[in-house]
Amino acid sequence: MSRIVCKFGGTSLADANQFRKVRAIVESDKRRSIIVPSAPGKRVPSDAKLTDLLYLCQQSASMGSDFTQVFTRVSERFLEIERELGVKADMAKHLEQLREDIIRGVSKDHVASRGEYLNGLLMAAYLGAEFVDPKDCIMLTPNGGVHPDTYRMLGERLARTDRRYVVPGFYGSDGHGQIKTFSRGGSDISGAIVARAAQAELYENWTDVSGLLMADPRIIPHAKPMEEATYAEIRELSYMGATVLHDEAISPVREVGIPIAIKNTNAPDHPGTRIVNKLSEEIIKSTEIAGIAGKKNFVMINIEKNLMNKEVGFAFRLFGVLERHGVSFEHCPSAIDSMSVIVEASQLEGKADIVLDEIRNTLRPDRLELEPQIALIAVVGEDMAETIGIAAKVFVALRDANVNVRLINQGASELNIIVGVMPEDYEKALRALYAVFVPS
Ligand code: ASP
Repeated sequence: MSRIVCKFGGTSLADANQFRKVRAIVESDKRRSIIVPSAPGKRVPSDAKLTDLLYLCQQSASMGSDFTQVFTRVSERFLEIERELGVKADMAKHLEQLREDIIRGVSKDHVASRGEYLNGLLMAAYLGAEFVDPKDCIMLTPNGGVHPDTYRMLGERLARTDRRYVVPGFYGSDGHGQIKTFSRGGSDISGAIVARAAQAELYENWTDVSGLLMADPRIIPHAKPMEEATYAEIRELSYMGATVLHDEAISPVREVGIPIAIKNTNAPDHPGTRIVNKLSEEIIKSTEIAGIAGKKNFVMINIEKNLMNKEVGFAFRLFGVLERHGVSFEHCPSAIDSMSVIVEASQLEGKADIVLDEIRNTLRPDRLELEPQIALIAVVGEDMAETIGIAAKVFVALRDANVNVRLINQGASELNIIVGVMPEDYEKALRALYAVFVPS
């Protein structure tokens, strides 16, 4: 039988009532046989995410401080879900084990992973499913990627298509028996890995919104959900700040062509967004772009040097400086005698002066300047390359909104047009672009 992997995010599992919704969703389709839970998230906006509380416990313990109060908040959440669902998952025993482990000084990753671990135990008991500990079958590389052996090990562990499995998200092992977590929000990555290992027909990512929105709803309150988008479009949008799906969650399923569906646990009948390899004809006809996303926190290094274009190895030496300081860059628009490098502000934190000095000494530019703040906005759309007039629309909209464009970049794939604007123009620019591409 073909299988669907369902990953449920923190708000989908924040309390017993949310667990009930999850069970109804899972039981409404037999193919939904592998469940990947996150740790319980916020019940209301002022609430805390369990993962944050766990980090806090570990941090306090490592400084020799009392973590009883925070730990009680963690325990109460799990015990309440267990009690209200009427399941027997030995939560009290597991929580006591965790408390002892924290005192014993287990690693930060170990403590943080227990949100997913305990929630997975609860979910397995509630669904009558088999619990699979990712520690035994998901292996991470030292830089947080997926070890290639994972797919074989996990595939074997999930071999029975007549069973229902629960595989907690967010963690695996380092291959030497130690627990290692993905980066924050990493249960999305786990879900994608599990879907690939199980050769699932679909990876459903259940969250608290009805699909991915075409723009940030904090700026565009009624932003439309996308019906369908390609992996490449979503990768661009999530990298450029559209949250909902972790940007590393795409490639495991993309490489093998498993579609992703972003669905809403609180509105399960809403179709949500489907992420696929190729857009359907209908979508190509009806939409010009997939969405618009952006981030404010970039800096721009501007370098000018007469006859730069003739100086063999100029860019090579520039990137060498960045590499020596561990700075990764995002974009690099250039002209004949000038070049700009855009990097995330955090990349240069505490080392901007040293990096600039080294660029000055290595490249002897005529002018070198650091623009401390620039916001980038990406207009993303797969069929942009085939459509006349998209760029014209972008720049007319920005002109009409009186926004000064500081930089323009379009990758060879013609999947997006990126513009750089001053941070104070960011919201205005985003609204103008949305209005022109998504007329109400
Ligand atoms: N619980 C983890 C976090 O808060 C992972 C996840 O929810 O995806 O980052």
